[in-house]
Amino acid sequence: MIRINKNVEPQILQTNATNWRAELLQHLKDNGGIYSKIPESIKNRYQHPEIKSSLVEESYGKCSYCESKLKHISWGEIEHILPKALSPENSFVWNNLLLACSVCNNAKRSYFSPTEPLINPVTSDPAAEIVFIGHLIWHSLNSATGQLTIGQIDLNRTELIQRRQERLEALSALIDKWASLQDKPRLQSLVWNQLVQEADPSKEYSAAVKAFIQGRCGQSI
Ligand SMILES: [Zn+2]
Repeated sequence: MIRINKNVEPQILQTNATNWRAELLQHLKDNGGIYSKIPESIKNRYQHPEIKSSLVEESYGKCSYCESKLKHISWGEIEHILPKALSPENSFVWNNLLLACSVCNNAKRSYFSPTEPLINPVTSDPAAEIVFIGHLIWHSLNSATGQLTIGQIDLNRTELIQRRQERLEALSALIDKWASLQDKPRLQSLVWNQLVQEADPSKEYSAAVKAFIQGRCGQSI
């Protein structure tokens, strides 16, 4: 999980979000406040391709929670940070939308608590709440938000642990090479640049990779 730097709000939302919100709230009122009774064509307007493609771009095609690459498996889902059924007025608010994989999206479901929130990667840096030790994610000391997020979204589920482990093991040879070049600083610098590239936010599981490289090499990226 890494910070998401939001793209500029897509034009389709800039033009329509106010009207879409008003129509949705009117339908909600007409249906006695029951969200499930609102027509799909009214409440699912956030699924517009222009919105989806911008979410894919800003998250590098990765789930905003687990950092798994999505585009080669599926297009992913649009996640509402404040759940749309509980906070329908935020259905079309750009900063409330994220790209997520179906597993994380389902795990989060409609979790919402003003007093015990999950990490919001749009408004805060997850690195303040969670730490990576190898392929495992831990919450930072005293971070209830980190602990809740890891538990609710199940960020240490078996398949994620396996995939992160594979990613870190694949990097080990490059780190060993870097370590063997202590007396060849120019060559070592080239290998270091390769390692830094592997921790780029566009890469899968970049937060775990960054922590792993920094821990083994003893220097910051
Ligand atoms: Zn995910």
